[in-house]
Amino acid sequence: MSITLDPWGHMAIEDYERLLVEFGIKPVRELLAQYNLDHKYFTRGVIFGHRDLDLWLNSYLSGKKVAVLTGFMPSGDPHLGTAMVYEELKYFQEKGVFVKIAIADAEAYAVRREDRSMVVNRGLDFIAHAIAWGIDPEKAGFYYQTNMDSSYYRLIQMFSRKITEAEMKAIYGDLSPAKIISALTQAADILHLQLDEYGGYKYILVPVGVDQDPHLRLTRDLADRFENELGLTRPASIYHKLLRGLDGNKMSKSRPEFAIHLTDPVEIAEKKLMNALTGGRATAEEQRRLGGEPLKCTIFELYTYHLARDEKELREIYEDCVSGRILCGQCKRRAAEKLKSLLVEHQKRYREIKSNVEKYVKKPSF
Ligand code: SF4
Repeated sequence: MSITLDPWGHMAIEDYERLLVEFGIKPVRELLAQYNLDHKYFTRGVIFGHRDLDLWLNSYLSGKKVAVLTGFMPSGDPHLGTAMVYEELKYFQEKGVFVKIAIADAEAYAVRREDRSMVVNRGLDFIAHAIAWGIDPEKAGFYYQTNMDSSYYRLIQMFSRKITEAEMKAIYGDLSPAKIISALTQAADILHLQLDEYGGYKYILVPVGVDQDPHLRLTRDLADRFENELGLTRPASIYHKLLRGLDGNKMSKSRPEFAIHLTDPVEIAEKKLMNALTGGRATAEEQRRLGGEPLKCTIFELYTYHLARDEKELREIYEDCVSGRILCGQCKRRAAEKLKSLLVEHQKRYREIKSNVEKYVKKPSF
């Protein structure tokens, strides 16, 4: 059976290697040494795939005008999965790359059918959290889709001419007018930076969860079709694995008890973590004898994505687990302490920035 990626859905992905084959995504591991990709997400296999990352890196290394762009749909509260994208943006910004963040308020309104004022306020929150996570607002750009001007909207109209409904169905499956407009708007988000009036950044990298790949496939096709008319080039992309909910399924805003939100009070976050699904055995005796299964464990996932400070610590946790030297209760308590200090620090910075965030983005007036 073939896999369908749904950027608007709530799927859990079991087999990332199969995605590489099925969608022609390239494995990132082949590039790590050549380009010294040293962020923990690269070295730990969290970012596992890419499209044209090597071409983008060559442009970056040869001093061409490059940028990193991603978007957030402000339809729920930012959580540790959202923070993975912040982390990637921060990494590239620290390498001197211009970073731009789109708030997909038009999409949240049309596809998710969210209340407009809630979406606008949540958008500010996503930006405040991005800054609190470490993105330097002075060296980044932030915008709401509905605040963009005519050149951006002209792109959406032009794109609609060179894509058929059948092609969009092949990429997205079920369609609706809201999904069609939202997909073309996302293409404008990714490609608008290439226009002179938006900076002329010809080489764009998009870091996203792999469920967003359909948008990249559409956008790359559109860039090809507008190469002559608008001088567009294909964007590159990197894909990270999706942080699962604490019950082992994909995180969803309809099940907030299984996600750690960045504004969760620390005692609530700790409680959620202590109830999480692990890769532990049925009894302590069995776990001491057989060891745990960290690759099935949501706690080990948290260590991998956010909590282990270095490779040595992560390896020790892995080995303690598989050898049965540590039991899940103790392992969770250690993770909870780390999570608490991460949240305390983050929330302190978030409170400092929250009242000032409108300084960095124009809020839509309606
Ligand atoms: S010991 Fe830790 S890593 Fe291993 S299964 Fe239990 S909670 Fe997960």
